[in-house]
Amino acid sequence: MQPETPLRPDSAPAPGGVPDPGGLPEVGRPPAELLAELARHRAGDLPVRGGRVTAYVYDTGRAEVHDLAARAYQELLEVNCLDPTAFPSIVALERQVVAAVAGRLGGGADTPGIFTAGGTESIMLAVKAARDARPVDGRARIVLPASAHPAFHKAAHYLGMEAVAVPVDPETFRADPAATRAALTPRTVLVVASAPSYPHGVIDPVEEIAALAAEAGVPCHVDACVGGWVLPWLREGGRDVPPFDLSVPGVTSLSCDLHKYGYAPKGASVVLFADEAARRRAYFASAGWPGYTVINATVQSSRSAGPLAAAWATLNALGARGYRDLAAEAMGAAERLAAGVADIPGLRVLGAPDAPLVAVASSDPGLDVFTVADEARTRGWFFQPQLSFQGIPANLHFTLTGVSRDRVEPLLAALAESAAAARRSGPPDVPEGLADALAGLDLDGLDDAGFAGLLGTVGVDLDGGAPEMAVVNAVLDVLPPETRERLLIRFLAVLYSPHR
Ligand SMILES: *Cc1c(COP(=O)(O)O)cnc(C)c1O
Repeated sequence: MQPETPLRPDSAPAPGGVPDPGGLPEVGRPPAELLAELARHRAGDLPVRGGRVTAYVYDTGRAEVHDLAARAYQELLEVNCLDPTAFPSIVALERQVVAAVAGRLGGGADTPGIFTAGGTESIMLAVKAARDARPVDGRARIVLPASAHPAFHKAAHYLGMEAVAVPVDPETFRADPAATRAALTPRTVLVVASAPSYPHGVIDPVEEIAALAAEAGVPCHVDACVGGWVLPWLREGGRDVPPFDLSVPGVTSLSCDLHKYGYAPKGASVVLFADEAARRRAYFASAGWPGYTVINATVQSSRSAGPLAAAWATLNALGARGYRDLAAEAMGAAERLAAGVADIPGLRVLGAPDAPLVAVASSDPGLDVFTVADEARTRGWFFQPQLSFQGIPANLHFTLTGVSRDRVEPLLAALAESAAAARRSGPPDVPEGLADALAGLDLDGLDDAGFAGLLGTVGVDLDGGAPEMAVVNAVLDVLPPETRERLLIRFLAVLYSPHR
């Protein structure tokens, strides 16, 4: 429990006349005041429940499940996963969670796995295990579809590897097995398929890709981060789901995020391996210092067991039947969304989603999807913009969840109204020459304050509540990905800097 009074009841000034460095109060503040301040901060956030934010958050629509998870999280909040011998509870809970996930994803009670903090960490570990399975001359390569999650590029970046992205089929947005095969070289240590891809919700041809990887003697990772805990339930509910999991010959590892369609609080994912030696290659140990012995299953070392307890509680509170119902509700909502979009002039769905993830693009040059997103934001909805990429048009992404069952009609109404308003206002006015000027800008010559000033001159107001992003997105949309990345890093630095 928090003490009801400040830890330092006196209001003594900073000792020795040291100037106040700001940030931290000299005298501790009362808990009620701090909690009230947190609530004030949160008032500006998007709502995490209720289905009006169709990305980032996963709401069952059953408040009691999320409340239980919060209590379970708190129960193990201060337990440290750093030392599983000191806290055997984490081993017991992790074994149960991994077994539950493996049991539905083509593995069994003896399938090795690791509970991680998220999809990125699961992928990082699978990539490390593949890299360390077989040394190659030069930089090891990962071959992945262009639609695969950036976590693979990040893993390659962190692990000194090279990510080679293969264009996807321009009609279906699925990975192209022939092009994947053609991209293999003696340096390839991992081939990737998604089940499904996040951008368009389509499942790659996992059987073909795993087979060609196996033929070349290369491991194959299935990224089921977003789909791993919805596809098995859709299949059990009677829908046709192509084979995608560890039961497919050639698949050697698979990631499944419980903080997505497992509906657990953030910080919960599982990576499964087809064999125990691969899991060992994901691990890390160090005895190379005079302190405690380090044995880590994950990238993080000290970390709270809260997310593990919460994921365990959520899985067991919902059970198979709960997940089957939630998957059917989310997929039903996605299908109603797709059908409804067909009736909104100027909008269309990209591809044919296999999971409750829907990408909506414009079919009319006078209707700009980024403006639709801004219009929706003013109406209390958040639709996630996705920039155009290698011929795939710009679009808005919708992740439907259990709560969407009762929210699709209002969502469609908001989308139709926002589209009508966006058509009236037309595409955003991008100042002439701005994109070229940004592309040619010497960013190294600008510090964060200078870049903040530049953002101001093009009308980006970081403190103005719901920001109008259409112009920013329109500019980014015409720039090549490398330039987008450089600008986004500068943007992030400004966001967190005092120069605003
Ligand atoms: C979300 C996601 C990831 C990354 O997961 P984080 O939990 O955000 O780190 C990887 N792959 C796919 C397909 C995803 O949807």
